This record gives sequence, structure tokens and C-alpha cells, in this order.
Amino acid sequence: MKKPTLKNVLGSVSSFLLFFLTVGFIVSCCMMLFVRVLADTMGLTLTPDNIAAAAKVTFWNVVLITFLFKFADHIRRRIMVDRPTKIITEAIKRMMAGDFSVRIKPMQSAGTEGFNEIAEGINQMAQELGSVETLRTDFIANVSHEMKTPLAVMQNYGTLLQSPDLSEEKRIEYAKGVTDGSRRMADMMTNILKLNRLENQQIYPQVTEFDLGEQLCECLLQFESVWEHKQIEIHTEIAQDVTVEADAELLSLVWNNLFSNAFKFTPSGGTVTVSLTATAHHAIIKVTDTGCGMTSEVGAHIFEKFYQGDPSRAVQGNGLGLALVKRVIDIMQGEIGVESAVGKGSTFTVKIRRS
Ligand code: ADP
Repeated sequence: MKKPTLKNVLGSVSSFLLFFLTVGFIVSCCMMLFVRVLADTMGLTLTPDNIAAAAKVTFWNVVLITFLFKFADHIRRRIMVDRPTKIITEAIKRMMAGDFSVRIKPMQSAGTEGFNEIAEGINQMAQELGSVETLRTDFIANVSHEMKTPLAVMQNYGTLLQSPDLSEEKRIEYAKGVTDGSRRMADMMTNILKLNRLENQQIYPQVTEFDLGEQLCECLLQFESVWEHKQIEIHTEIAQDVTVEADAELLSLVWNNLFSNAFKFTPSGGTVTVSLTATAHHAIIKVTDTGCGMTSEVGAHIFEKFYQGDPSRAVQGNGLGLALVKRVIDIMQGEIGVESAVGKGSTFTVKIRRS
């Protein structure tokens, strides 16, 4: 708060004086008028001396009382207005400086409901801004961390490629290392951009009616080389003629991520089962694998951005797949859940509205 200057103080004092004198004068005039009317009615004779004395007493009484009230009001303002204003201003200043840990304590005294309401609003705002800030810094830290691994791999392979007398076999291996690393980075960037667009609602679902069973089979077939390579058995229990009205591209993102995880986390010789059932209003899709499964702790976090439950498999992903899946399902107002047991496998269940 600014310190008052002498000029300001003199200005306030003179306006105070003017105020008291004006009030004193007006009230004295009213009083005299009243006394005169009273005297006339009661037949009393008032001398000019009587009137002057009464006017003086009234005038100074009024000035004194006004002064006392004004003084009391000044103290009240100090406690009820200036102090809370100072607390609020200081909290806002700290927030402006980037400190979102600020919290204003509510006041207990009567008549502070308004202040407490503002304080609660500011506390909530600080909390929200604090969590947004944490998300932002976490996000940057995660992206940087995720980029470091493929970059380091690419750097290593690049250095190895420079060595003379490389056999053709090694040259191909190192070049593949560089290509894989760059592909991983490109995939991550694509996922980040998709997630960003989904989170900012820049994607408006293009709703069409299509056969969900057909879409599931088409998506599954894209992984044929993977399941053949890992000798994974495929089971499908797909109900016929289940149509949905939804954005086909967004939904295929969901299936691709769920299938890719099922194949990634299932060891050779395992089984992946895809089932589709439907009621009049909903379609229920289950993707079950006999893979490594996950603990309930891991299960509680898998839909968070950049979360990866199994560090040993972290090289194969970037922890964004299920965050994307969840976002799509949320946009479609559907539901997704997982049941899993370590060493036994996992079942992801998706429930979406058919229209
Ligand atoms: P990524 O697969 O790239 O690590 P996701 O967001 O797709 O990222 O998955 C997040 C985490 O969820 C994985 O790291 C893994 O721990 C766990 N997870 C997802 N699907 C499965 C699955 N089918 N079986 C076991 N764990 C899984």
C-alpha cells in the first residue's frame, strides 16, 4: 500500500473538517427551526440569546458526536476493510510472482463472510493454477526425458556408423538403430500432438454409422505380423451386425492402442482374445491377454500421461497410448476399465453408446 504524503493528509483533514462543520451547521439549523416551532406552539418566548446558546450547544454537540462516529468508523474500516484488502493484495502479488502455495486463512469475526468468500475463491484459484503449473512442468520434464533415450541411442549408433571398416551387417544394424530411434521420437510427437488436440477439443468427432465388428477385425489384422512372429493365438468372439454411430478414426485409435499393448505385454505362445457384445444402447468390447498383467497400483495410473508400469518394457512405448485411449473414451462419454493379475494377464473393457 502507498504511504500517505503530507499533502494527502492535509487534504483528508480539511475534507474531514468541512464535513463536520457542514453536518454541525445543517443539524443546528434544523434544531433551531424545531425549537422555534415548539416555542410558538407552546406559547414560549425565546430571546435571541437563548437561541444563540442553544445553537452553539447543538452545533458543538453535533460536531463532537460526528467526530466520534467518524473515528469509530475509521477504526472499523481499518479492521474490516484495510486489513483484509492487504491480505488479499499480498496473496495476489505472491501468485503473480509464481508462488501458488499461497492460502488465505478465513476470518472468524462476524461480518467477514464477504472476505471469506473472496479468500476461498483465491485459494481455489491458487490450487488450480498450482496443479496446472505442476502438470506443465511435469509434462515438459517427461517429454524431455522421453526424448533423451532415443536421442542417446541415435547418437551412439551415429558414432558407431562413423567407424571405418564396418562390415555390411554392422552398418545395416546401426542404421536400423538410428531409424528405430527416430521412428520412436516421431511416434511420440504424433501422440503428443494428438493428445494435445484431443485435450483442447480441437477434434470434433465426425460421427458416422459403421459396423463395429468389422472395424475391430480390420484393426486386429494390422497386427498379423506381430502375432505370427510371437506365435500368439488369437480368439475372437464378435457379435454380428453391431453398428455404432461414432467417429471411426477416433475409435480405431482406441483399438490400435489396446491391441498393441496386448501383443506387447504378452509373451510368445500366449493368447489374445477380442470380444464384442451389444445391448440395444451399448456396445461392450473386451481385449484380454495372457501377458504379464499388472498390480493394482500400476492399474490405478495407466491412464495418466507418460506413465509406464514396467520399466523393462519402457523402450517399446512412451506411456501416452492409454492416456489417448482414455481421452477418446471420455469424449465419447463411454467407459473404460481394466482387470488384471500379475503373471496371469489383463482384460480391458470398453463400453460405448451405440448412438
Ligand atoms: P506404453 O505402452 O507406451 O508404455 P500405455 O499408455 O499404452 O504406454 O500403457 C501404460 C502402462 O500400462 C504400460 O507401461 C504398462 O505398464 C501398462 N499396460 C498397458 N496395457 C497393458 C497390458 N495389456 N498388460 C500389462 N500392462 C499393461
